[in-house]
Amino acid sequence: MVPIRTESEIDLIRHSSLLVAKTHGEISNWIEPGVSLRKLDSIAEDFIRSAGGVPAFKGYHGFPNTLCISLNDVVVHGIPSDYELRDGDVVSVDCGVKMNDYFGDSAYTYVVGQVSESALQLLKKTLECLDEGILAAVDGNRVGDIGFAVQQCAEKAGYGVVRELVGHGVGKNLHEKPEVPNYGKRGSGIVLKEGMVLAIEPMINQGTARIKQHRDGWTISTADKKLSAHYEHTVVVRKGKAEILSSFDFINKNKRI
Ligand code: MG
Ligand code: MG
Repeated sequence: MVPIRTESEIDLIRHSSLLVAKTHGEISNWIEPGVSLRKLDSIAEDFIRSAGGVPAFKGYHGFPNTLCISLNDVVVHGIPSDYELRDGDVVSVDCGVKMNDYFGDSAYTYVVGQVSESALQLLKKTLECLDEGILAAVDGNRVGDIGFAVQQCAEKAGYGVVRELVGHGVGKNLHEKPEVPNYGKRGSGIVLKEGMVLAIEPMINQGTARIKQHRDGWTISTADKKLSAHYEHTVVVRKGKAEILSSFDFINKNKRI
């Protein structure tokens, strides 16, 4: 069964999602050539803990850090290293917070300095796919309507939609039912009901949809080494229009796509 959250539970998920949003805001100020991924991670961890939250990813199935930081051809689950950002990099930052027993989850892909026009197009389109997915997340629709919307948006532009990794319910656990694939058939899957809380997170590749798992057990990259982008919001299904609980509004205006 997919949990239907009460308004007071949704408030708690909103608080956690807001802290995730503010963490992205903080991190965005540091996205510059020369900053190490480990530095970004430690800034995020300090920021979350000083606000009374707990980094949700740290220790999750043994993941070692607060942020997943995925560079260029890395799709998701990149482990922060001593690598220093370079002009032209594309970097996805995924952040989760637990506070008051409820989770929030959101990801944003940033550009470092000047990137290629084709990279920027991929990022813009992936954001658009996220918006399309969220528009489909309304009471009475089905989970396949979300996937259909995302897939249409990405494939019309000639991009690859990752199949192996999906969005998910979020609430008392970081990952709950239902799975929210970024592909699907209209009118398929469970019926969405007001009060379901979902993390919608298109992972869109510039080239092939196929991915490769690295030996570290975490890092997932594109099979053809082309770029990948990832944007994610935590949303609550409502009648007529989903409510977005996370936010990109705190991200430094100069760092927004
Ligand atoms: Mg996430
Ligand atoms: Mg997620």
